[in-house]
Amino acid sequence: MIVETHGLTKAYRRLEAVHGVDLRVEEGSAFALIGPNGAGKTTLLQLLVNLLQPSSGAASVLGVDSRRLGATDFARIGYVAESQQLPGRLTVGQFFDYLRPFYPTWERALENELRETMRLPAGREIRRLSHGERMKTALASALPFRPRLLILDEPLSGLDPLARDELMEGVLKQAGETTVVLSSHELAEIEHAVTHVGFLDSGQLEFQESSSDLAARVREVRVLLEGAAAVPARTPETWLDVRAAGNVLTFVETRYSEATLGERVRSCVAGVRRIDADALPLRATFVALARAARSRSAATTVEP
Ligand code: ATP
Repeated sequence: MIVETHGLTKAYRRLEAVHGVDLRVEEGSAFALIGPNGAGKTTLLQLLVNLLQPSSGAASVLGVDSRRLGATDFARIGYVAESQQLPGRLTVGQFFDYLRPFYPTWERALENELRETMRLPAGREIRRLSHGERMKTALASALPFRPRLLILDEPLSGLDPLARDELMEGVLKQAGETTVVLSSHELAEIEHAVTHVGFLDSGQLEFQESSSDLAARVREVRVLLEGAAAVPARTPETWLDVRAAGNVLTFVETRYSEATLGERVRSCVAGVRRIDADALPLRATFVALARAARSRSAATTVEP
């Protein structure tokens, strides 16, 4: 594993932003860390690059304890975050001149290609760039040394659709050679580029699995009934977002099995005429999971 954490926890005073996380990222994968606002994604990524230190537990990155990562390790790790500070008084050209000597593996041709594709204005001071241009500058500076590990926190934020597509294509091209861990809310854009997904909620990693396993187990189910549909009083815990409209009952099954779905549906509702189960895009999977997580936390929150 190129990234492995054990019981990783980070508390900001009484708030545990990351709680007991056991993350495992395989070398060569493109791992998407997804989760609602405030779930702890940024905190987790900052722990991996030693911008934050754990309150308990540990993270191993490229085989090194994250607290001991040194200059030689950082020469193989690219990190780009929306909140990242860049030296505003330097021009784009000066910024690249400054960075190159830190990285023995820096490829000038790749740098030139990235700067050209992203149309970065060489002579302009970084503080005068637009938000999107600043993100592109940060991204373009994290790739020319072909990092073994690329950590991207909300890399698509502020980028126009063409730039988003180009970035995700770039990530795809690097897959295999570079391991990518990224957090993003732009799920439709990242869906086809990522190989693994981890869902973080209230600081806890609810699951981590390959995109294909996730797509196979989460299905949108549509049940056509003989009579009017109503939401059953009791449904399996793995059914999310159960709705009734006309003669149709719909829900998201998070433990789909072709062999048992019919039997499970018939044990909850009578008069079933037809059942369809379709794959769900990552965005819709996220919405169902996040909605379920929110109603779970509302149910456990005791009003003062
Ligand atoms: P988003 O998707 O909105 O960017 P996120 O998943 O990246 O959210 P984090 O930024 O890691 O979430 O924040 C996790 C929690 O920790 C939030 O409740 C946030 O308010 C809190 N938090 C983050 N940084 C600090 C800090 N420096 N001090 C106190 N609390 C913090």
